[in-house]
Amino acid sequence: MYRTHTCGDLRISDNNKNVTLAGWVQTVRKFGSITFVDLRDRYGITQLLFSENLNAALDANPLGREYVLQVKGTVNERSSKNANIPTGEIEITVTEFKILNKSAVPPFTIQDDTDGGDDIRMKYRFLDLRRNAVKKNLELRYSINRSARNYLHANNFMDIETPFLIKSTPEGARDFVVPSRMNPGQFYALPQSPQTFKQLLMVSGYDRYYQIVKCFRDEDLRADRQPEFTQIDCEMAFVEQEDIINMFEGLVKHIFKDVKGIDYTDFVDRMTWEDAMWQYGNDKPDIRFDMKVCNLKKPATVFTDKKDNADLINGVDFKVFDEAETVVAIAVPGCSEYSRKQTDELTEWVKRPQIGMKGMVFIKANADGTFKSSVDKFYSEDKLKAIADAASAKAGDLILILAGAEERTRKAISDLRMYMAERLGLRRDDEFKLLWVIDFPLFEYDEEGNRWVARHHPFTAPKPDHINIMINNDPAIKDATKYLEHPYANIKANAYDMVLNGNEVGGGSIRIYQRELQEKMFAALGMDAEEQQHKFGFLLGAFEYGAPPHGGIAFGFDRLCAIIGGSEGIRDFIAFPKNNSGRDVMLDAPATIDDRQFAELQIKLDLKD
Ligand code: ASP
Repeated sequence: MYRTHTCGDLRISDNNKNVTLAGWVQTVRKFGSITFVDLRDRYGITQLLFSENLNAALDANPLGREYVLQVKGTVNERSSKNANIPTGEIEITVTEFKILNKSAVPPFTIQDDTDGGDDIRMKYRFLDLRRNAVKKNLELRYSINRSARNYLHANNFMDIETPFLIKSTPEGARDFVVPSRMNPGQFYALPQSPQTFKQLLMVSGYDRYYQIVKCFRDEDLRADRQPEFTQIDCEMAFVEQEDIINMFEGLVKHIFKDVKGIDYTDFVDRMTWEDAMWQYGNDKPDIRFDMKVCNLKKPATVFTDKKDNADLINGVDFKVFDEAETVVAIAVPGCSEYSRKQTDELTEWVKRPQIGMKGMVFIKANADGTFKSSVDKFYSEDKLKAIADAASAKAGDLILILAGAEERTRKAISDLRMYMAERLGLRRDDEFKLLWVIDFPLFEYDEEGNRWVARHHPFTAPKPDHINIMINNDPAIKDATKYLEHPYANIKANAYDMVLNGNEVGGGSIRIYQRELQEKMFAALGMDAEEQQHKFGFLLGAFEYGAPPHGGIAFGFDRLCAIIGGSEGIRDFIAFPKNNSGRDVMLDAPATIDDRQFAELQIKLDLKD
């Protein structure tokens, strides 16, 4: 038997027991004639005491960091206790030891605060995974996985595997493709999600399906995206939006309770996409803090149902505002005393290419009730006060105003809002705030192709009372400059996103389940009958054999784990992640394959330079 206990097991109540432990040598400390060793395994660290009588044996078999060691000995109370670890009251007085395997000197220290940089830790990920900090994350991931499965199982969901080798039907992202040796010249694709399979399972009558499953998307990698990632993928038949929202709000609350001990009793708000964009400039707003956007000016073509405050800024001949399509403001709490240097810093921040603003206007709502601004030349104090009031500023707040083209400016104010919240410590990672965003536009306009693209995916149904707008109108966009006036621009999707602390953690929709409507959708996206048949004939065909009404959702599992773990970086919640260029630096993948493999696949490689 290699061990009687783990390195996390033993307590003072085990005093005098004879035990055998096995693990990795974390540290070796020599004090005169005695030697202390910290022995580590997955469960903890136990202190070993080698007395003088073992010195000859230690000299003959010296211990090094990360050696795999087996010891026999007796549990004893420690003289100097360590209150920080559960085994801190005892140590093992070693009677015998055996080196099970040696270790090369590790390239970084296996400790919480390691001296290893990102690259080296990824190259030696198997060593990095020994670190407590990473292990804790993987344990959390496993707890969330178990908790999700328990909830879904208790609610009659069935885990059904779907294939990884499927057909390429790129929509949105690019597919990863896999050549088929047995069918030369033909390729499989790896699924971007099991979307069509889970819908087919509904047609088959498995009315509650789930899978915690890998998905693959060959996207240009933005920070913190992985080419392969995991979803909690779910689908239900005979449901409406309300049923899905209730079921999956339940899932997330169940997970909070299970893994964090949090009773999430707050009402989970629902916000329309339009309200989210209007009030936060963003469709995944972080609502842990307020700082809502004040709309001082909007173009006539967007947010047609909403009223701006243009009368507050017009009529003073301030060209920057007069010529801008959009003017938006936020009131940052308690920052009216920012120095010139600090406001200059913020101006530089919004002028960075990632944000892309030409400048920033500010108004200080001073604690004494006076107002001061960077545009005093144009606006009287009364006018400044009126703008500050519209932005819900209190005395002591700093109002920041951005002006420019609609989309960019709205995104910029949203980024600025998040940045200020971060600076002010308003984004606390131990606070969790859920939100449903609903009523997304069904279509987005693709300028390049002068056509509609599906905002979520082409299987998403319009809101029930918008189905007729879709059926009764021709999708063709005759005048590209007026696409916002096309009836399709106003069709809302029966879709919903779950947002947690400003991150989209889940998204889904009620699906189209009638062949005619699905064909209309494909046609709206520019697919002719032949292409529809070639790409999605199997689904259209299935819809003719009794497809029930259905809908579903998928959660980004890696991100959900990271946020619950209090981090926004997903990599440390994945055992073997890829780096920002999509490489596995440990395996050194992707890599070339050898000529024999190319020959078998009947593929000729002809790389330009
Ligand atoms: N398949 C969708 C996605 O991956 C989620 C869904 O609609 O259920 O985003």
